[in-house]
Amino acid sequence: MQEARAGFEAARSSPMRFAYVALPARVLFGANRLSDVADEVRRLGGTRTFVVTTPGHRDLGERIASLLGNAAAAVHPHAVMHTPVEVTERALAALQASRADCIVAAGGGSTIGLAKALALRTDLPQVAIPTTYAGSEVTTMVGETSGGVKRTQRSPKVLPEVVIYDVELTLTLSAELSATSGMNAVAHAVEALYAPDAHPIAGLIAEEAIGALARSLPRIASDPLDIDARSQAQYGAWLCGTSMAMTMGLHHKICHVLGGTFDLPHAQTHAVMLPHVVAYNFAAAPEAMRRIARALQAPDAVSGMVALAASLPIARSLEALGMPASGIGRAVDLATRDAYPNPRPIERTAIASMIEGAYRGSRPAPSGG
Ligand code: NAD
Repeated sequence: MQEARAGFEAARSSPMRFAYVALPARVLFGANRLSDVADEVRRLGGTRTFVVTTPGHRDLGERIASLLGNAAAAVHPHAVMHTPVEVTERALAALQASRADCIVAAGGGSTIGLAKALALRTDLPQVAIPTTYAGSEVTTMVGETSGGVKRTQRSPKVLPEVVIYDVELTLTLSAELSATSGMNAVAHAVEALYAPDAHPIAGLIAEEAIGALARSLPRIASDPLDIDARSQAQYGAWLCGTSMAMTMGLHHKICHVLGGTFDLPHAQTHAVMLPHVVAYNFAAAPEAMRRIARALQAPDAVSGMVALAASLPIARSLEALGMPASGIGRAVDLATRDAYPNPRPIERTAIASMIEGAYRGSRPAPSGG
């Protein structure tokens, strides 16, 4: 914690002192990009491909298998939320039985999470084909649930070698899921802007990412088939995903606590919390807030974030997501128990009033001066 505080202070007094680390990436972007999947598997040396997806996307899995032809080994449409280890172990047995030498994952963060968990155990190359805006496909992080507890680790083994962004695959994402998944993505870029290890390139990416999503998400809410808005959103989501290479702060911590403790839905929780966390950190991260406001084309970051959320079909409160009022105290305890980096120190009373405000769905105001 002290190290993180020193990081923030050093960043303030010497803004051009930074470390820049880029993750390897091969990204194919655009309409009908799915048709490149067989070439990409070949480039990776794959001859037998294990195609991972969810039960709801079985058709997509089959379509990919037919594009792969002889290079398809099996379709495994059994990914579920939160990457439970039992599900991964069954998938691993199926993968080994199929003698696969390559993995293709097509779906949201849950599907990509299962493929990453398999790559962690096998080190096989992966092609990720995301269908939501979660951003997991460009990170070295993998979260796994065992005994009801979700733990996250980073490993270069889990980073997909290739990412295919095919906008057409996002057209079926409902207005609601698009909005929550998009706000989940925006949260990554927001926290990258004030991360202790932020650097100028991360800032450029994050600001561009927030702008792309802020411009496209309201358009998708009114017309989910708007392909231009969909492309902008997917572009923004990719950039937001790359922002997760930075150290995430209060927002990610609190969403992890709320999701894990009360089984709240992942992206929806992010969407409810984001304006509140921006308000909490407002005075402690003035440069980040200036950039967020600029990206949102708003007078300030908090009113911009509130306006963006208000323009989207998302829940406004933790209560609406099913959190019990009796859980507020526990959430405050868990969110303030461990040290973690955040521009504004983790102050128990202020965190309690932030969580209460998010629980009720009240309009957040800038604080922490
Ligand atoms: P998800 O993958 O669970 O998908 C949400 C729902 O949307 C599912 O019912 C799915 O079937 C459906 N869906 C997906 N794409 C669709 C489409 N194009 N059309 C219609 N329906 C579609 O949820 P998510 O928000 O994409 O991912 C959340 C998970 O990803 C969480 O477990 C989170 O922890 C993880 N995640 C991990 C990282 C990382 O870096 N490791 C980053 C972000 C998120």
